Amino acid sequence: MRIDRKYTLETLSRLVQINSINPTLAHGAPGEQEIARFIAESLGACGLAVEIFEPAAGRTSVLGRLAGTGGGRSLMLNAHCDTVDVQGMAEPFSGATRDGKLYGRGAYDMKGSLAACMAAAKALVDGGTRLRGDVLVAAVADEEYGSLGTIDLLTHVKVDGAIVTEPTGLEICLAHKGYLWIQVDVAGRAAHGSKFELGIDANMKMGQFLGRLSELERDLRSRAPHPLVGPPSLHAAMLSGGSGLSTYAASSTVQIERRTVPGETGEQATAEIRAIVDGLSEQDADFHATVRPFFVRDPFEVPASARIVRALDRAAAKVRGCAAAHVGDTPWMDAALLQAAGVETVVCGAGGTGAHADVEWVDVESVVKLAEILAEAAVDYCE
Ligand SMILES: [Zn+2]
Repeated sequence: MRIDRKYTLETLSRLVQINSINPTLAHGAPGEQEIARFIAESLGACGLAVEIFEPAAGRTSVLGRLAGTGGGRSLMLNAHCDTVDVQGMAEPFSGATRDGKLYGRGAYDMKGSLAACMAAAKALVDGGTRLRGDVLVAAVADEEYGSLGTIDLLTHVKVDGAIVTEPTGLEICLAHKGYLWIQVDVAGRAAHGSKFELGIDANMKMGQFLGRLSELERDLRSRAPHPLVGPPSLHAAMLSGGSGLSTYAASSTVQIERRTVPGETGEQATAEIRAIVDGLSEQDADFHATVRPFFVRDPFEVPASARIVRALDRAAAKVRGCAAAHVGDTPWMDAALLQAAGVETVVCGAGGTGAHADVEWVDVESVVKLAEILAEAAVDYCE
């Protein structure tokens, strides 16, 4: 499969030069409107049918479709087009290439892979490849915060398989962790600081809870690790309590992040924390606390035997000249949403470094190779 190298690199550079910082993460940031316009024009010029979706004002996703002849499996190549903020970066929008590395915010996470998805579709058109199934390029909004783009797209589009192209250095990612946010509110009783007989100190009670929570934290990390993503974990991310120095604290609150592994559910993870609260309440009539999970993102796992994984295995081996490794990753990705919607999903993207860091670059050669892998995988999957 011949990849148009010039198109790939020019597209990548242009994508990086367009500011697409997620406005929910950085107040006043532009969002995806301008980058979506560029992507839509480019995919249209390549010969794809283009649709625009805007689940919220200025939060734009683009869907390019290369229609098949009918009767084959359909495949979505998925990449997010938003980025995190650029604070501390010397050249956030340069798009300059030095020593085979293209620099700028989003180059690695994940405009390199987005350019590869676009170039893969172009290669299929240029080569006159006729597939039975549709090939879709989805450039989605808001992955870095609430995944508005992919959630919305799933209400409009039905596909059989998806490759989420978050960066993996061209290895094949079959699993990632999920996470759960849980708030624990410990209730005390306010009283004048001199009236120990009246007050119940919610912060001291919280201390007892945190002692038990750290035992659970050690227990989680000593459990048999998931073979691809390791053990589960948690951390007491945010803590607050009390209203003044001469007042017994009436309440104390902790917000916990629990990272889950494939096979675990949010209900199980919450029940483990509830068990700590129940145990303390039994021992101490003055211990009162509530446990409230308030946000959940499920973990992701796809079997190596899935049709989409085997197609990608063959494509990667053909382009790289050796088999790609099956790996796991820890951050949550849109892959979990697609898989949960019944779309068989796998993750494979470009190489580089610096996601959310001050210096970010993508390996240009890996972008071109990824384009070829994606095009070959589409031929295998959608033929
Ligand atoms: Zn990303």
